[in-house]
Amino acid sequence: MISVQEAQSIISNNIQPLSFETISLENAGNRVIARDITATFPMPRFNNSAMDGFAVCAVDTEGADKLSPVILKMAGVSSAGTPSDIILKPGLCAQCMTGAAIPDGADAIVIVENTSGFSDSGTVQIFQEAKIGEHIRRQGEEIQEGDVLISRGTCITAGEIGILATFGYEKVSVMKKPKVAIFVTGSELIEPGNKIKTGQIYNSNLYMFAELAEKSGVEVVMREVIKDDKDSLRRLLSEALQICDVIISSGGVSMGRFDYVREVYKKLGVQEHFWKVAQKPGKPLFFGTAESTLIFGLPGNPVSSFICYVEYVHPVMQDLQQKKRDPKHQAILAENFPVESNKHRYLFGRSWIDSKGKLLCSPASKIGSHMLTASLESNCILESPPGKQGLKAGDEITINPLNWRNIE
Ligand code: AMP
Ligand code: MG
Repeated sequence: MISVQEAQSIISNNIQPLSFETISLENAGNRVIARDITATFPMPRFNNSAMDGFAVCAVDTEGADKLSPVILKMAGVSSAGTPSDIILKPGLCAQCMTGAAIPDGADAIVIVENTSGFSDSGTVQIFQEAKIGEHIRRQGEEIQEGDVLISRGTCITAGEIGILATFGYEKVSVMKKPKVAIFVTGSELIEPGNKIKTGQIYNSNLYMFAELAEKSGVEVVMREVIKDDKDSLRRLLSEALQICDVIISSGGVSMGRFDYVREVYKKLGVQEHFWKVAQKPGKPLFFGTAESTLIFGLPGNPVSSFICYVEYVHPVMQDLQQKKRDPKHQAILAENFPVESNKHRYLFGRSWIDSKGKLLCSPASKIGSHMLTASLESNCILESPPGKQGLKAGDEITINPLNWRNIE
């Protein structure tokens, strides 16, 4: 049996990132930038006003205050979207709105609050001295033309979408989403909504996988519930091998008489890279490849399926899209953690920051691999490599945050 580290490195060695595609900005959220995005022009693109006010020659306002205002002649109006061709000479000023181009000759803005206000009269009283450059957004002060705005590998969120639009990008090159098949196997499974008979259980894993896959930003192209029956398994798995980048199945990979999944994968030409990892839960984890398709056979117990997805499958989905992997953290145990002597131990758990700013955590009290209710109050997975002794409260442990829940 191989270790968790060996299993992880075998998987990593078999990942080939996907190619890219060009999509419209509207659909770009949560996708990964495939090529550096550069500035097509400087930002600001032209000198413009940061405030509503009057464009002036600063020197004209020397000594201005409320009691002895400076009076300037109005040369015109510059508003956002309608630049003017005014050229300010000494003694002149122009009404200039936020975002509007600064008229030639002006070198400062006096905000409207420090003047007698906007009006149609031919003059305005200035109540405060202006400093050169005041309230002017200078061309290129934020970004120079040609600067890299967003590097490849960045996940697109609201800020990136805003910047792409700011620089006029209507389309963007992003990494393709992995095409994924999710299967659950088991003759005992029935779908929620049906009346349950003795010996049956409701299928939970398929719904869980679909939600986890959504969080990984992938496209689920097949989802099936399959009986423990070689023919149906063969038919659906072979179809998935034709069209998917990743196949995820649950159940049927243990030592049971009807656990056919591994056998069928192998008969279909899947190369087995490992089966069984020294870990709890999730020992019978299967990993194989067929050309560039990656195949994960996860054990059927819901906690095993969930944890194996988060620990093994989700990082692969990120690697395929060249997304940075979600970080793990070190936290201090607030309770003891039951380390295994020869297996890597994963448990659902809760993490929080205490009043001194320390990151604490504690494992869920329900530890069976069939006890999915442990996930309900959890916001992370705690993990410890094999060891002779258990970890005690106060010891450090690694946690993997469930990125849809907050650390409290
Ligand atoms: P297996 O890995 O097929 O031996 O299944 C291990 C345990 O997980 C059994 O108790 C199964 O009934 C249960 N199980 C398998 N698949 C699912 C599923 N899709 N939803 C809920 N439980 C499952
Ligand atoms: Mg089964």
